[in-house]
Amino acid sequence: MNNPVIVVHYHELWLKGGNRRFFLGKLFTALRQALQGIPVERIEQPGDRFVVRLGAGAALDEAIRRVERVLGVAYFAVARPVERDMDALCRAAWEETEPLRFATFAVRAKRSDKTFPHSTMEIESAVGRHLLETLRAQGRDVRVQLKDPELTCHVEITPGPLLVYARKIPGTGGLPANTAGRITCLLSGGYDSAVAAYHMMKRGAHLSFVHFYGTGARPGESSLHVASGLVRALVPYQFRAKLYRVPFEAIQREIVRAAPEGVRILLYRRMMLRIADAFARRDRALALVTGDSLGQVASQTLRNLVAVDAVARMPVFRPLIGTDKMDILATAKKIGTYDISSEPFHDCCPVFLPRSPELSATADELAKAEANLDVEALVAQGIRGATIEKFSFSEGRVEATEPVPVMPADQHRTAIA
Ligand code: ATP
Ligand code: MG
Repeated sequence: MNNPVIVVHYHELWLKGGNRRFFLGKLFTALRQALQGIPVERIEQPGDRFVVRLGAGAALDEAIRRVERVLGVAYFAVARPVERDMDALCRAAWEETEPLRFATFAVRAKRSDKTFPHSTMEIESAVGRHLLETLRAQGRDVRVQLKDPELTCHVEITPGPLLVYARKIPGTGGLPANTAGRITCLLSGGYDSAVAAYHMMKRGAHLSFVHFYGTGARPGESSLHVASGLVRALVPYQFRAKLYRVPFEAIQREIVRAAPEGVRILLYRRMMLRIADAFARRDRALALVTGDSLGQVASQTLRNLVAVDAVARMPVFRPLIGTDKMDILATAKKIGTYDISSEPFHDCCPVFLPRSPELSATADELAKAEANLDVEALVAQGIRGATIEKFSFSEGRVEATEPVPVMPADQHRTAIA
């Protein structure tokens, strides 16, 4: 008879000020998009939460999995719809709490429909008393505790059926998707950059991705499929994403040929920043993001990071700069990128790596090391060779377009000008 209802709660923090309508509008759109393909009767907004009334035949498990990934959701719950009657409410609260294990509990009622003939206090005490009596009659050792109870049974008095729920499901938290502007991510196949991207998405940024790939020891062994896989895992959080795929081996060869061995990796990074900058501008992104973490590898000493950054023309964000690898890996597991990054892939030809990397470069030293390189031509070469793959998440599935060249040949000049 009554279809399941999902009650979605968000953090109030980001609702301060005049942006309330903007953020809630984006969260509403995100819920709608996330649930595409699942029958939804309507989404209501009684007070400080969303009530998603699923339609006939809706797959509840799938709906839960989708809402779990909606940014901006603090927690949510599957509620039982109940007819507007106190006895029915008590019975439903009992059915909801009886299978759960707890020693202390409280009942909390919210009333957005003031036509219901009982006050929240009356509802809380009547339902609380019923639960206490029936649970105790069953031999359960439980008591009411209003402050910090182990279990809270929620009652929502909204127009239409009443709602009861006791099992909260944690949401992703963060800010709603696509509320904070655009950022371009330098995405390797490793664990860090995908996690860095996720952190920025969680703050509402919309990300595009740039991946630099070698050709691989054998065909099909390059890192491209890993980068695509990572974007596929991330796109459900922001619904659309672009991946720029830049062939990098020839550029690396040129750096190996013309620059001192110890600073190679730092020069690769500088080339990556310059090329990513061009794609960021194309997308009107205002910053770049990388997965660097202080001191993680030789190229990420403080001095090296600063020396690399000297060529950046827009801010380079490093959300993982102070995060331990263990914590990064835990996040990668949570968001489903861990297994993808664990796949073996041919990242960078070993002959391109220095035997003893520089740990303490300066920007001047790197600029000198680039003196024998035609930097502009190499950037143009990177842009010219790039292809773009577009991803979208709809009806619960990720779709990708065939990769196509980024732009017609005559537009390269303007991109790097
Ligand atoms: P990750 O840091 O993602 O685990 P990694 O450890 O292999 O990968 P590092 O060598 O630590 O990568 O590189 C530091 C950062 O530089 C990466 O987090 C990423 O932002 C960027 N980067 C490195 N290699 C690539 C690449 N092939 N394509 C795009 N960005 C890259
Ligand atoms: Mg790393």
